[in-house]
Amino acid sequence: MSEVLVLIDHVDGAVRKPTYELLAIAKRLGEPSAVFIGGADQASGAAEAVKKYGAEKVYTVDDTEIKGYLVAPKAEVLQQLAEKTSPAAILISSSFEGKEIAGRLAIKLKSGIITDAVDVQSSEGGPVTTQSVFAGNFTVQAKVTKGTPIITVKPNAAAPEEGDGAGAVEEFAATISDAAKSAKIVASQPRQASGRPELTEAAIVVAGGRGTGGNFEPIEGFADALGAAVGASRAAVDSGWTPHTFQIGQTGKTVSPQLYVANGISGAIQHRAGMQTSKTIVAVNKDDEAPIFELVDFGVVGDLHTVLPAATEQINKRKG
Ligand SMILES: Cc1cc2nc3c(=O)[nH]c(=O)nc-3n(C[C@H](O)[C@H](O)[C@H](O)COP(=O)(O)OP(=O)(O)OC[C@H]3O[C@@H](n4cnc5c(N)ncnc54)[C@H](O)[C@@H]3O)c2cc1C
Repeated sequence: MSEVLVLIDHVDGAVRKPTYELLAIAKRLGEPSAVFIGGADQASGAAEAVKKYGAEKVYTVDDTEIKGYLVAPKAEVLQQLAEKTSPAAILISSSFEGKEIAGRLAIKLKSGIITDAVDVQSSEGGPVTTQSVFAGNFTVQAKVTKGTPIITVKPNAAAPEEGDGAGAVEEFAATISDAAKSAKIVASQPRQASGRPELTEAAIVVAGGRGTGGNFEPIEGFADALGAAVGASRAAVDSGWTPHTFQIGQTGKTVSPQLYVANGISGAIQHRAGMQTSKTIVAVNKDDEAPIFELVDFGVVGDLHTVLPAATEQINKRKG
């Protein structure tokens, strides 16, 4: 069986959840091989983590020489590994960084690339991806027809699957060109942590709209009870009730969680574009004719200021 390379998405060696989702997809396509580019002292921890989610091999690349040089060196590392292993596919998380690495890699390997897949399945003749395009109005199945399929996959496209792989660690020494070192990060500050999961990666998103009237407390309380991220409609953002980074939709972020709870959001097409690939959609709205009810799995007709605190209380009670 051919290898499927999965680029490990990590922060200082701590592997992020989308990597485990990619490994679950890689198992459908071939033999999962994870690629760790990072500090030599972090490699064994990361290798141990991905082994538990089925990595048969872990290529570790010491980043001492390339640390701080944006994305170009990572594309060169993957290019050289792909030339060595001839993988059946290369899977990368659909972050801004992941997509830029994938784009550069596709040019280097003269291969086809598919970005923002929400599902990937194996088929004769290579992986078939599903994408949601044109503001979510079309679902497209696609296949790479030239070279090694390079696919970036959105968070939550698959559930992580625990199960030991062989996890055989192999150090890989890549040769990085000077051209790849032409842009360097000179300073970085971590964003202040809210304690909530990152919006685009969260398994549950609780969003609020104009119907909150500017009071996001019920939204935040319900989100915290569920361990969810908080999102918002553009109306809530434009009113200055929440930061722009919370906006979901055509001109905001696209989310695809297991559960999306829309509160006081009417369901305008531009909002749907950012959330309609969510697995289960629930809405709370006091207008039983609100368009959001056309796409929900469960709907509650009621005032969010009453419904959400009651639901939060019940959840907290059941958590014991
Ligand atoms: C080019 C363009 C790009 C856009 N991009 C985006 C985007 O990225 N994201 C986005 O969200 N929008 C976007 N919009 C705006 C979009 O068209 C809508 O105006 C917006 O989504 C409406 O936000 P809303 O649902 O919160 O507000 P409204 O449409 O005003 O809906 C509020 C809802 O709250 C309900 N409600 C009121 N009070 C309560 C209560 N107490 N309890 C329960 N329910 C209550 C009402 O019944 C209503 O259904 C864009 C528009 C354009 C033109």
